[in-house]
Amino acid sequence: MSRKENVIAKCPLCKSKLIGRLSTRNYYCQDCSIELIFNKGLIDVFYIYSDGNVRLVGKL
Ligand SMILES: [Zn+2]
Repeated sequence: MSRKENVIAKCPLCKSKLIGRLSTRNYYCQDCSIELIFNKGLIDVFYIYSDGNVRLVGKL
């Protein structure tokens, strides 16, 4: 059992706990419609538009 797994307990932007897990490294915040993707030690933040397009808005 590894404890090195990437885990997000709450949204780093809005602090919401409505974080849904999409896959091992992907999370989705229902409150601010962003997707969080673990990438080489950083977290890429993508904004998801209502038409389904995504845009990289920053790294954490
Ligand atoms: Zn959020």
